Amino acid sequence: MSDVRNVIIIGSGPAGYTAALYTARASLKPLVFEGAVTAGGALMNTTDVENFPGFRDGIMGPDLMDNMRAQAERFGAELLPDDVVAVDLTGDIKTVTDTAGTVHRAKAVIVTTGSQHRKLGLPNEDALSGRGVSWCATCDGFFFKDQDIAVVGGGDTAMEEATFLSRFAKSVTIVHRRDTLRASKAMQERAFADPKISFAWDSEVAEIHGEQKLTGLTLRNTKSGETTPLAVTGLFIAVGHDPRTELFKGQLDLDDEGYLKVEAPSTHTNLTGVFGAGDVVDHTYRQAITAAGTGCSAALDAERFLAALG
Ligand code: FAD
Repeated sequence: MSDVRNVIIIGSGPAGYTAALYTARASLKPLVFEGAVTAGGALMNTTDVENFPGFRDGIMGPDLMDNMRAQAERFGAELLPDDVVAVDLTGDIKTVTDTAGTVHRAKAVIVTTGSQHRKLGLPNEDALSGRGVSWCATCDGFFFKDQDIAVVGGGDTAMEEATFLSRFAKSVTIVHRRDTLRASKAMQERAFADPKISFAWDSEVAEIHGEQKLTGLTLRNTKSGETTPLAVTGLFIAVGHDPRTELFKGQLDLDDEGYLKVEAPSTHTNLTGVFGAGDVVDHTYRQAITAAGTGCSAALDAERFLAALG
């Protein structure tokens, strides 16, 4: 049986590494499960990050994450590039099982497993991520000044992204599979009233074109099957997110969309000694800096919880 650690952190995006940095500097010797394939989190899949404070000229996503990783390690965080496959968080001593079946024990656990943006499932989609294909208008809208852009989706997020992007773009085409939107009436009206926004109804993206950069799309009509080209240099995919909470079902309280519930503004979950931070909790902001911010809060909450245990 392994020793009982102070704290285990599950997830290695900005939230996880920030929680690791703070708990390491508090001499809590955190153990961080980084994930087997996706250590470093969502920013490993992008190029320039221009909105993380402290980098005047911007920084590449993977470089930012390498820096965060090294900073946490410098203060003694133990990092394991492995997945957690099972947890029992209900008792005073929590257990976390890795892919080899080893059971790790801790008094506190911080969950920072992030959320996965839904993809269209098209061949070029990943290759052109950060090269014209994006999942975040707040992050990348600025790169598309005076360009023609498509937004895929019919919900509130798609309308919000489209109206935000119309500030920069020459034109925004909303591509939607049906002939009515799911978005709230207010969001729809804002989009309909925007002279830069037009709609490709009953349409889906059939192909994404480009080698180094996105050069255009082929749309397919979902009723007739007819295909048409759409010349755009930006594609924003807004078809939803899936928080990574499968592991915690039945133990941690989740909301209707599967996000981890916390007692905001704290990071306490329904279970004593278990804290949640970053995009796994966040429906709204989904930024590296907000994930890092709540990662810090979770570390401080865990530190205070452990101090109270004596
Ligand atoms: P994530 O970064 O998603 O990290 C979660 C981690 O948990 C992953 O490493 C995963 O492997 C790990 N994990 C999950 N389950 C397990 C498990 N069972 N065991 C072990 N590990 C597990 N934000 C900005 O502020 N600026 C930008 O320019 C920007 N650009 C973006 C570009 C792209 C393409 C994307 C997808 C997002 C971008 N974002 C940007 C958003 C930003 O990346 C996220 O808001 C942020 O990464 C969320 O951090 P997080 O720590 O909550 O989760």
